[in-house]
Amino acid sequence: MVDCIFCKVAAGLIPSQKVAETEELFAFEDINPQAPTHVLIVPKKHMSSSLDITAHEAELMGKIIMMANDIAIDRGLEKSGFRILTNTGSHAGQSVFHLHFHLLGGRRMEWPPG
Ligand code: 5GP
Ligand code: ZN
Repeated sequence: MVDCIFCKVAAGLIPSQKVAETEELFAFEDINPQAPTHVLIVPKKHMSSSLDITAHEAELMGKIIMMANDIAIDRGLEKSGFRILTNTGSHAGQSVFHLHFHLLGGRRMEWPPG
């Protein structure tokens, strides 16, 4: 296994508060939540960032968005709204280099982001 924190979280080798799991995906609570709901969704397969996404991962990316929607709906966020985002590289503030999507909700968010 690549020496990667989110590979280890997805494999259960580093403890996390699991939110959802499929064969391909793992969702867990962010350790430093920035909103009442702050869940991270990762592919179990290691990919460094959105730059690694190819046509081969097209279906998987759709499944990530659907999982985010399911979690948001489960938490009653569909009316108030929520944000799904991924940070790519240093200007975006990416700090963990295993592709992950943030699901944020439960408070009003700013646009443009800081
Ligand atoms: P990025 O800045 O790369 O877009 O997001 C990384 C996110 O991972 C941050 O929101 C950070 O709080 C979260 N994070 C970093 N290490 C851990 C960890 O070990 N466990 C959990 N649950 N979240 C983590
Ligand atoms: Zn990884």
